[in-house]
Amino acid sequence: GLAERLQGTLNKIRGKGKVSEADVKVMMREVRLALLEADVNFKVVKDFIARVKERAVGQEVLESLTPGQQVVKVVNEELTALMGGEQSKIATAQKPPTVVMMVGLQGAGKTTTTGKLANHLRKKHNRNPLMVAADIYRPAAIKQLETLGKQLNMPVFSMGDQVSPVEIARNAIAKAKEDHHDYVLIDTAGRLHIDEELMSELDDVKELAKPDEILLVIDAMTGQDAVNVAESFNERLGITGAVLTKLDGDTRGGAALSVRAVTGTPIKFAGMGEKTDALEPFHPERMASRILGMGDVLTLIEKAQTNVDEERAKELERKMRTNELTFDDFLEQLAQVRSMGPLDELLNMMPGAGKMKGLKNVQVDEKQIGQIEAIVRSMTKAEKEDPSILNASRRRRIAKGSGTSIQDVNRLIKQFGEMKKMMKQMSGMQKGKKKGGMGG
Ligand code: GDP
Ligand code: MG
Repeated sequence: GLAERLQGTLNKIRGKGKVSEADVKVMMREVRLALLEADVNFKVVKDFIARVKERAVGQEVLESLTPGQQVVKVVNEELTALMGGEQSKIATAQKPPTVVMMVGLQGAGKTTTTGKLANHLRKKHNRNPLMVAADIYRPAAIKQLETLGKQLNMPVFSMGDQVSPVEIARNAIAKAKEDHHDYVLIDTAGRLHIDEELMSELDDVKELAKPDEILLVIDAMTGQDAVNVAESFNERLGITGAVLTKLDGDTRGGAALSVRAVTGTPIKFAGMGEKTDALEPFHPERMASRILGMGDVLTLIEKAQTNVDEERAKELERKMRTNELTFDDFLEQLAQVRSMGPLDELLNMMPGAGKMKGLKNVQVDEKQIGQIEAIVRSMTKAEKEDPSILNASRRRRIAKGSGTSIQDVNRLIKQFGEMKKMMKQMSGMQKGKKKGGMGG
């Protein structure tokens, strides 16, 4: 990922007290290469780099204590902005039904996404959509949508393959009004390549159906090609949004960046698999992290946020800073970390953790954590608050009380002392950082 590429450059810079403009230039070259490798369109990359550079040579970055990380942060923020910043929702018509046209090349995932979207609208928005089979060309396309409808137990409107898509759309919308459907999802035909015949037919359907939303379905695996497809569909039809499919594959997702930049329309959903529930609202900041190869940083942060009481966290932070941390605080921290889930799972979500030397061999042993808890619980209040009073006889007593050995007790006390020292250093560094900064 990009983050890894930057690492080498960062290591060189880290030794220096300051980051120069020349250093930033070197970093930007890495960013540029990584984006091109992730299949981002070269024009998009050029503009992007210019914007990041401007910010990266600014005071915000150069004067911070962790300039390398600040650059990564700037890149992350600008990537997010490039994809529209905020999550963008599907349209809702003033007067129902909301008409949605699904368009795109053959095999992009239109039919599958039509089913997924119907399911999503019902499950997440309590809607009652009608799916419409308007692909009369691809053999078995109608059958495919009908099968999805059966699977989901949701209605599919079809008139066979002898009626024009425009007629199908007209009848479908009338039917939707009659049956009080609030969404009409029209699955249209695709071609292997863009051609005028297809475009003119889609245009006819558009004229008739007056869709509130024209969603371009794009296969994320097609990389650079996605840009041409998006450009053509947008020029000819005027799309209102895109759905990026097959993001469950090993694509970097560079297409996501280009599509938004080229068409100016937001990506609204991401397809994450073949099943009918594998559709997710598109989150620009998560995609940015994916492109950066930062791991699922945001999921990790979310997880931590839901589990850690903010007030308590602040109190602990203060204690760390002033070196007042007690064994009771330590136990509490341990409990919090455990409530977030298995430790090795958490480590996996951390950027670069999997690749860190040595970490591979760290077996996070739940039994060991239980032992630590037992030792701390065997201490008196005074001992927990001031470990310096823990002499040999106290340690012996604690080992006995907790069913552990003196060595176990000694090791924990030593680790605790080291942790305190480390935390004090860390919080000293934190002070220099900007408030609210993720620091990469
Ligand atoms: P259409 O020609 O645009 O209607 O494309 P289809 O809906 O028929 O999908 C083409 C193929 O892509 C099918 O095999 C789908 O199962 C698969 N597909 C669609 N969306 C996704 C996705 O998000 N992830 C994966 N892995 N496969 C997908
Ligand atoms: Mg289809």
